[in-house]
Amino acid sequence: SRPLILILADQLSFDLPLLRDPPSNAVLALCEVDGEGRYVPHHPQKIVLLFSAMRHFAEALRNRGYQVHYSGLEDADNCQDLLDEAERLARLYHCSEIHVTRPGDWRLHERISQRRDHTPQWHLTEDDRFFCSPDEFARWAGNRRQLRMEHFYRNMRRESGILMENDEPAGGQWNFDHDNREALPNKLDVPDPPRHQPDATTREVMALVERHFSDHFGTLKGFNWAVTRRQALSDLRHFIRHLLIDFGRYQDAISDHEPFLFHSRLSASLNTGLLSPREVCQAAERAWQEGHAPINAVEGFIRQILGWREFVRGVYWSRMPNYKRENRLRAERGLPDFYWSGDTRMRCLNRAITMTHDNAYAHHIQRLMVTGNFALLCGVKPEALCDWYLAVYADAHEWVELPNTLGMVLHADGGYLGSKPYCASGKYIDRMSDHCRHCHYDVKQTTGDNACPFNSLYWDFLERHERELAKNHRMKLIYGSLHRMSDERRRAQRDKARQILEEIHFEPAYGQGDHL
Ligand code: FAD
Ligand code: SF4
Repeated sequence: SRPLILILADQLSFDLPLLRDPPSNAVLALCEVDGEGRYVPHHPQKIVLLFSAMRHFAEALRNRGYQVHYSGLEDADNCQDLLDEAERLARLYHCSEIHVTRPGDWRLHERISQRRDHTPQWHLTEDDRFFCSPDEFARWAGNRRQLRMEHFYRNMRRESGILMENDEPAGGQWNFDHDNREALPNKLDVPDPPRHQPDATTREVMALVERHFSDHFGTLKGFNWAVTRRQALSDLRHFIRHLLIDFGRYQDAISDHEPFLFHSRLSASLNTGLLSPREVCQAAERAWQEGHAPINAVEGFIRQILGWREFVRGVYWSRMPNYKRENRLRAERGLPDFYWSGDTRMRCLNRAITMTHDNAYAHHIQRLMVTGNFALLCGVKPEALCDWYLAVYADAHEWVELPNTLGMVLHADGGYLGSKPYCASGKYIDRMSDHCRHCHYDVKQTTGDNACPFNSLYWDFLERHERELAKNHRMKLIYGSLHRMSDERRRAQRDKARQILEEIHFEPAYGQGDHL
């Protein structure tokens, strides 16, 4: 019988098991549908990236001689729902079966699983582009109440053989973090990323997105995401040649004017399938072997992909759907409304949000220690913050966004993913960035009129969650400092935090369960 092979927007790779040797009569389908474009208000750059990359991939498949059906968003007969559209196409081409690779979010996986006994019949295939399958991860995680990325990562190093020399870690250590984490020097030259001129296909998609999604947060101006494998490979080459050497050193630094610093900007290409995680890790490993980059940079970079990226995916598939409902710190606020406008005098937040608006990108430390940290300190509800992160970044897909936001940033899973919350006062931001010298607020003050809001919110957060956090041995030092403060000082900090929270306009929070 004739199969329909449905290819999703994050599966644009000839390496998919379903595309390695498809039956010669198979119909390959890619579908743009309104439902997927709108369930959170995705950044226009993200939608252009996905639709344009899908159109280019469809063309590449046609060039290899496959029969391809591409459903455009404005096609009159498009059902605008992914599964309904695939079933319509199956009927159109007389296909009795629909095959699809495991999608990147639980919601779609669940809907497909429920249609297994349908006609046409749905079949799910495992996505083996990752180093670790959900089953392998579940076996590794077992019944542990807390997981540690570092242990998982060492296992992945051993299993993949990446950065290993005869069963020993290359360079004699698993982790070179103590050589990383420098702040930025005053003057720094960051090489510009390669410029990908939008071709006719991308320009057509840009016009389409302007027509349909212009009300979404973000601009299309300056769109520069790779939409073909060739462009993605050129981004990878640029990173290996010009940026990797300084990646480790400035991994945690934040700049007031440089949005990308020495980060790779490869997450979007990795997540859509234009690059494979294995080839990216191997390219970095080769750079070290050939003496082009130091071990601390290469190990730090590989850890993000072979370690963190695989780890959060494992957590996602082994804990969903309950993971999405976790809210152990009982955070109840909606999102501060300035997350959609950047309209705040807090310079660090203003810059992180403006860069996000302009580029559909912020690097990890901006996400974790600026927008994430502030939401944690304010008590923003996981659903509200997750929807924002899922919407605003070009690389955002739920399997990777949710554990990072709910687990790493909001510590809403009780420490399952990360051993302590990444809460920090203005002092951390001042150390790692040059924002504070451009800010309306004074980072050295906690309670005065001009005090940096992060400071009182930080101490207030620690007080509010003393019961859950004080017994954590990694928090002992900081609770020691809190306990040494006078009652008067603690009261003044609480009052200041209350005043700040009253002045922020928070969007209405979702009701329980609205989100799933
Ligand atoms: P680099 O700094 O160059 O890192 C190299 C690669 O490592 C990245 O391309 C990415 O594939 C991987 N990586 C690094 N850190 C992580 C991590 N914590 N989890 C998973 N992979 C990682 N990443 C996404 O791909 N999609 C998301 O939706 C996403 N949401 C996030 C939400 C929050 C709140 C936080 C704190 C982090 C999130 N991340 C997400 C992880 C990380 O911030 C991005 O992968 C990274 O900033 C992408 O930029 P880059 O390619 O320049 O990364
Ligand atoms: Fe951010 Fe506070 Fe520094 Fe201003 S003073 S940039 S609000 S950390």
